Amino acid sequence: MISGATLLAGVVGNPIAHSMSPILHNAWLAAAGIDGVYAPFRVTEERFASFVDGLRGGSVRGLNVTIPFKERALSLADRAGDRATMAGAANVLVFEADGTIVADNTDGLGLLAAFAEQAPGFDPKAGPVAILGAGGGARGAAAAFTAAGCREVRIVNRTQARAQAITDLLGGEAFGLHRAAAAFEDAIAVVNATSAGLAGEGQLDVPLEATPAACVVMDMVYKPLVTPFLARARALERRTVDGLAMLVGQAIPSFEAFYGQPPPADVDVRALALKRLEAR
Ligand code: NDP
Repeated sequence: MISGATLLAGVVGNPIAHSMSPILHNAWLAAAGIDGVYAPFRVTEERFASFVDGLRGGSVRGLNVTIPFKERALSLADRAGDRATMAGAANVLVFEADGTIVADNTDGLGLLAAFAEQAPGFDPKAGPVAILGAGGGARGAAAAFTAAGCREVRIVNRTQARAQAITDLLGGEAFGLHRAAAAFEDAIAVVNATSAGLAGEGQLDVPLEATPAACVVMDMVYKPLVTPFLARARALERRTVDGLAMLVGQAIPSFEAFYGQPPPADVDVRALALKRLEAR
């Protein structure tokens, strides 16, 4: 039941209908007995800033931010934690009662948790990693690998100037998509952080065969769970990490930021999300 005291939170993006975040958060809210609701918000580019500004004061407790707004979300916040500042992007906005907006980035925590769970023994310090894409998701990943001691983060993007903007901030090397093979050589991990295919645009066609046999391949996209990108990596016998593990990994600290307590550990949110993905 929604009451007069129900706490509101949600996820903002465009597109947003694919998001599994409401499934995760609402399952946790119910299990924790918190009077709260977590809703999806689809907002256009031109209305994003006024939408966020209108939530000042805490009528909505917090938002997760997804494609394509993570970089702008950081710029709209009054304060930001180190992770968001380092990444130059935010996936969490908390609306304080005094009207301030506080930004955080939990994507990197989710990414590293996903590697720990699905590629046990993976050591970010052991060599270079290549990240495909240069949007908000790529920024969170690059900052997390850098903070974890990765020797060289290579950003491979269609628009090379956006890749360069990340390496200017964090170090590493920027590549155009046409030089993906060079970025994959001796990489210990390749992460797809592009939205190619998400809005019906072209699939990402990169030479995964250029990666070493021990390279771990991850896709941030989780619909379907085994994306064509991960399927190609598996066909090459590479270890893979899926985007759903990252989604759960970033949602745990997001929940904590919104409700001041960790989500209940006994809810199998991955199974819930998988059931929903299969039903679509
Ligand atoms: P952004 O919109 O900020 O960035 C999108 C990136 O994808 C850009 O670098 C863009 O390149 C690239 N891109 C888009 N279309 C194509 C294409 N057809 N070919 C090559 N490159 C393309 O999005 P986000 O960074 O926020 O998210 C990226 C993806 O990662 C999304 O699918 C999102 O759902 C997923 N994600 C999943 C998370 C999880 O927890 N599982 C967490 C974060 C993100 P260009 O710069 O040239 O435009």
